Amino acid sequence: MLEAPCFDDLREILSQAEDLPSLPNVALQVLRITSSEDASIADLAGVIARDPALAAKLLKLANSSMFRRGDEVTTLDEATMRLGLKTVKLMALSFSLVEALPKSGSGGFDYAAFWRQGVVMTVSSRSLARLVGSKFDDEAYLCGLLSGVGRLVLVDSLKETYAGVLERCAEGFPDAELERDVMGFDHYQVGATMLEGWELPGLIVEPIAYLGDVDALPEESPDEVQEVAKILHLARLATSLICGQKRGRTLVTLEEEAQRQFGLSNQEVETFALGLENGIVETAALLNLDVERGTPHDELMAEARQQMVNISLDTAMDLQETASRAKQLEEENRELATRASTDALTGLPNRASFDQRLQEVVEARLAGNGRRALGLLVLDVDHFKAFNDTHGHQVGDEVLRHVGSTLADLTRQTDFAGRYGGEEFVMILPNVGSDDLELVAERVRLGIETMRVRAGDLDLSVTVSVGGACCDRVKNRRAGDALVSLADECLYEAKQTGRNCSVCKKVETI
Ligand code: GH3
Ligand code: MG
Ligand code: MG
Repeated sequence: MLEAPCFDDLREILSQAEDLPSLPNVALQVLRITSSEDASIADLAGVIARDPALAAKLLKLANSSMFRRGDEVTTLDEATMRLGLKTVKLMALSFSLVEALPKSGSGGFDYAAFWRQGVVMTVSSRSLARLVGSKFDDEAYLCGLLSGVGRLVLVDSLKETYAGVLERCAEGFPDAELERDVMGFDHYQVGATMLEGWELPGLIVEPIAYLGDVDALPEESPDEVQEVAKILHLARLATSLICGQKRGRTLVTLEEEAQRQFGLSNQEVETFALGLENGIVETAALLNLDVERGTPHDELMAEARQQMVNISLDTAMDLQETASRAKQLEEENRELATRASTDALTGLPNRASFDQRLQEVVEARLAGNGRRALGLLVLDVDHFKAFNDTHGHQVGDEVLRHVGSTLADLTRQTDFAGRYGGEEFVMILPNVGSDDLELVAERVRLGIETMRVRAGDLDLSVTVSVGGACCDRVKNRRAGDALVSLADECLYEAKQTGRNCSVCKKVETI
C-alpha cells in the first residue's frame, strides 16, 4: 500500500476520473494465476493460449536475441519452458497492458514521442538490470514499460488538472518536479496509484511511485524495491540522454549516478548506451509499437560528449569569472576600509583609527602585555589660523601635509601617528620608557621646527606645541580617554608657556 498523503488524494482523484484505462482481461487472469500459491506453468500457458496475439508475442520473445538459445521454439509450451514462469508472467502482463493503453488521441499530445520514450525506458531498464546483475530484470522491464502510464492518465482522463502543468512546459514533456510544483503530485505517483488499483505487485508499483523523486523512497522499503528503484532511476536518465535535448548535462548525471549507485565506470555506461539501439527496435516490434529509429547512438553519444566538453569549458570560464570578481570585490573592500580609516589630506590614519588603536593598546595592557609605560602625545600647530588667514587655505593644507609627513617619518614602526582633527595630531607609544616620552616629544617638536614648507614662492617654517602623558600601569578600560585628557591639559600648559615647546606628565596608574 502506497503511503504519504498524496497517494490518498490520488486514489480519490482517480476514483472520480472518467475513461481511466481498465485492466485487460488477460492481464487480470495472469495476475490471478500467478498470485495463487499453487498455480502451475501449465495454468498460465492455458490462459495465454486463449489469446493468440499474446501467444504469438511470447513465442517471438522466446526467439528474440534476448532469450534465444539454440533452435527456434515453435510452441507456447516450449516458449514457456525457455522463458520460465516469472518471465512469462511479467511479459504476458507487459504485452497485454500495453495493448490496453492509448497509442493516439486528440488534444495535441505527442503520443509517438511518448511511446518512443516508453520503449527506450523499457529497454534501458532491462538492460541496466542485466548489466548490474540484478535478478529482477523482468520486473525492471515491466516497470520501465509502465512508468509513463500516469502521464497518459493525466493527458486523457485528468486533462483539466494537467492543463496548468502543460502551460508551463515550453518543450518536450513536463518533468516530475514541475508537476509536483503545480499539482502537488507527479505523473509517476498517478501511474503507481492506478497500477496499485489494478493490484499489480509492490515490486512493480513502488519503484514507479518514487521515480520522480528517488530520495523520497522510504528507507524501510524492501531491498528488492530499492534495487529496482535504483535501476529505474538510471534508466530514466539513460532515456532522457537518448530522447531529450540536454544530452551533455544528462550524460554527466548518468555517469555520476551509475558510479554512485552501482559502481559502473564511464566506459560501461557508454557501452550500455550504445547497446540499447538494437533492443529498442526489437522491443518496439514485439510491443507492436511504431517507433522511429532516431539518431544512431554513436552519433548521439558523440554529441553528448561534445556538449559535456562545452559545459566544462563554460563552467571553467564561470569559475574564472567568479574568482576574478571575488578578487575585485576583495580589493574594493580593502580600498573602502583604507579610505574609512585614512585621513585624505595627510594620508595618516584618521581619528577613528586612532580611537580604535588606542583602545586595542589599552586592552592589550589590561591583558598584561607591555613592560614599560604607555605614552601619548598630542600636537597642535601654533598659530595655524594665521597660515590660512595670511596665505589662504591651500597653503594651510600644505602646512598640514608637511607636518603629517614629518610626523610619520619620526614615528617608529611600533608606534602610531595620526591626525586627530584640524591642526591637531597624535602619537601613541605603546611601550615607552617613562623618561623617554619627553625625549620623543622634543624630537618631534624639533623635527617640525626645522622643517621647511615650500609652497609657490613661499618658504615657511612651522612650530607645534606638544602635550604628553604616560602611565606605568593600566587598570581601567577607559584609560585611553583619561590619557587623552591628561595630554590635552599638558598641551594647554605648553601653549600657555609660550608655544613651540612640550609638556609631559607621568602617572603610575590610570
Ligand atoms: P593655537 O596656537 O592657539 O593653536 O592657535 P591656532 O590658530 O593654531 O588655533 P585655532 O584653533 O584658533 O585655529 C585652528 C584653525 O585650523 C581653525 C581652522 O579653520 C583651521 N583648520 C582646521 N582644519 C583645517 C584643514 O584641514 N585645513 C586648513 N587649511 N585649515 C584647517
Ligand atoms: Mg587647535
Ligand atoms: Mg593650533
